[in-house]
Amino acid sequence: MKIAMVSEHASPLAVIGGVDAGGQNVHVAALASAMADRGHEVVVYTRRDSPQLAQRVELRAGLTVEHLDAGPPAPIPKDDLLAYVPDLAADLRPRLATFSPAVVHAHFWMSGLASLEAVRGLDVPVVQTFHALGTVKRRMQGSCDTSPAARVEHERSIAREAHRVIASCTEEVRELVALGASFARIDVVPSGVDCDRFAPVGPVARRTSTRRLLAIGRLVPRKGVDDVITALQWLPDTELIVAGGPSTADVGADPEAVRLMQLAEKCGVAHHVQLVGQVPHTELPALIRSADLVTCLPWYEPFGIVPLEAMSCGVPVVGTAVGGLLDTVIDGVTGVLLPPRQPAVAAAAIQDLLADEQRRRAMGAAGRDRVGHYTWARVARSAERTYLRSMLARAAVRTDGQPAPREAVG
Ligand code: UDP
Repeated sequence: MKIAMVSEHASPLAVIGGVDAGGQNVHVAALASAMADRGHEVVVYTRRDSPQLAQRVELRAGLTVEHLDAGPPAPIPKDDLLAYVPDLAADLRPRLATFSPAVVHAHFWMSGLASLEAVRGLDVPVVQTFHALGTVKRRMQGSCDTSPAARVEHERSIAREAHRVIASCTEEVRELVALGASFARIDVVPSGVDCDRFAPVGPVARRTSTRRLLAIGRLVPRKGVDDVITALQWLPDTELIVAGGPSTADVGADPEAVRLMQLAEKCGVAHHVQLVGQVPHTELPALIRSADLVTCLPWYEPFGIVPLEAMSCGVPVVGTAVGGLLDTVIDGVTGVLLPPRQPAVAAAAIQDLLADEQRRRAMGAAGRDRVGHYTWARVARSAERTYLRSMLARAAVRTDGQPAPREAVG
């Protein structure tokens, strides 16, 4: 089948780790590739953010990235992109008409807006994955949320209009229903992990301290790295490596990195904390394998690919009991799940695990076993089922000549 994916700010070609480049980029690239493995023809449409980018880039057989012209061909923070959505839709529409996909899969809310606008009059269903919801972000980040004011209203209308809506985790289903999506139109399709790349055996990064914790992710406050740093004051002989943010050369000047290092100074642990900046995805497995534990202590987490990557390498996760981690990490088996924003509780749990190598080994083995449920091949099969359901929903509208109750075809 021909599949169009729209991912306005998160290109599969981007370097991962910056403020706006993380899980969604990895997800779109891997899902599109797994769909190509299944014999589908996939085109990913994303905004051109550099004049050097060719209009079409063939990534591999069956997978092409096309750049849409909307706004200046330069990086623009995703929270400033809304103004360019009409241009995105205008450029997308003729390309969809030419490609003639069986389904359009929109990633993130602005891609949903552009896709629903672009398919108007074309006979093609839209599947929506939000990846993150404005309602949750506003609740959790309050005045620090820099999303456009209209985000929640737009998400509400996308949740109602899309032919199927994908929740990235079980917890998101409740949020989507609260937003107005009909339960019968929602499928849970998680993210995945490349189990061959993220494997327990392989090169191991050099390590200096006796005990190593690792945190990986975009350098944004909600990832809770400050709680790991605070916890370090109760953890003797333990170092923390933080991967993510700008390049190694530039990370020192990053405002969030500066804030984290100031906190580390205040807690008296600065000599145990290393912010190494962006680590290429291909180099992460060696770093993960060098750690005793991978810490993921977000305040909230729409999915969280990093816990899967840790488990896939056979390293236990110390995580918070939020969002996708509630689905992926089995508390007490593949890691531990803790309440968010409680560094002393995290310190106690980390200390217990660091003191028990046998338990860590057992958890690592269980984690590796667990990720068998999250291979990209499996994720692609689930997403494909959703695509087929969206096509049925679209066909029902066609047959009746008027919008069918979408529940009827769910
Ligand atoms: N990542 C990376 N290099 C870094 C930091 C992060 O390759 O320096 C990758 C990480 O391995 C994971 C993704 O970025 O695949 C982050 O995804 P996650 O779902 O954990 O977080 P999100 O970015 O969606 O909030």
